[in-house]
Amino acid sequence: VIEIQNLSKSYGANTVLKDIGFSVNHGEVVSIIGSSGSGKSTLLRCINLLETPNGGQINYRGQNILDGKHDIPSYRTKMGMVFQQFNLFENHDVLSNCVVGQVKVLKRSKEEAERIARKHLKVVGMEAYINAKPKQLSGGQKQRVAIARALSMEPDVMLFDEPTSALDPEMVGEVLKVMKELANSGLTMLIVTHEMDFAREVSDRVVFMDKGVIAEEGTPEEIFTRPKQERTREFLKRTM
Ligand code: ATP
Ligand code: MG
Repeated sequence: VIEIQNLSKSYGANTVLKDIGFSVNHGEVVSIIGSSGSGKSTLLRCINLLETPNGGQINYRGQNILDGKHDIPSYRTKMGMVFQQFNLFENHDVLSNCVVGQVKVLKRSKEEAERIARKHLKVVGMEAYINAKPKQLSGGQKQRVAIARALSMEPDVMLFDEPTSALDPEMVGEVLKVMKELANSGLTMLIVTHEMDFAREVSDRVVFMDKGVIAEEGTPEEIFTRPKQERTREFLKRTM
């Protein structure tokens, strides 16, 4: 679905991504791991064009979306994003959080949008809370609503940026459980995570980033059991 080639991104003199290349196939779950500051969030933000890369290609279904000829807003609706800090609309209730984007961006009718929203709220186990405001919810519940909101746009690829890092420990499990179910349902997912056991269990492939480059990529077995690079081994020793 997505193929990244020679992607680079700098902030002033600070080169944050260097010559990044990897791909995500339809139905695949790819996890990105690496130390703080290695460029994981920047990479996700480049993929959904919240940031503009300085160089390289992002091929989506075989077409380079950075070539200036592409409908960027339409591409962005195909990338569902879940953030560490939920980013829910605080003044909207749960159902409305999952409806507004569909109506505004996808021009769906309110009725259709509500039907789709309810379906996805059910998937994440939040259908009983449709009239609650975000401030009435726990962190884990908010994140599950954020996942339902992203799913309601029916994206091609779901991007997760440390979806459990802001949660109290007792709420991490309920969010990972939902993500595991989504992975098993065949959804294409690209997940930045510090949850190594989760990455190992659900990923088809794992990408290890270090200082703006992909230091190593492989199956969970290759990365976690017999990493080839010394810096991968060092990282895993520090985090596991
Ligand atoms: P973490 O695990 O802490 O979330 P990360 O791997 O997601 O880290 P990034 O947030 O992508 O890392 O940051 C990579 C580098 O880019 C850091 O050195 C950071 O300071 C820098 N950076 C990120 N965003 C900006 C920005 N908007 N302006 C300037 N520098 C930035
Ligand atoms: Mg980050």
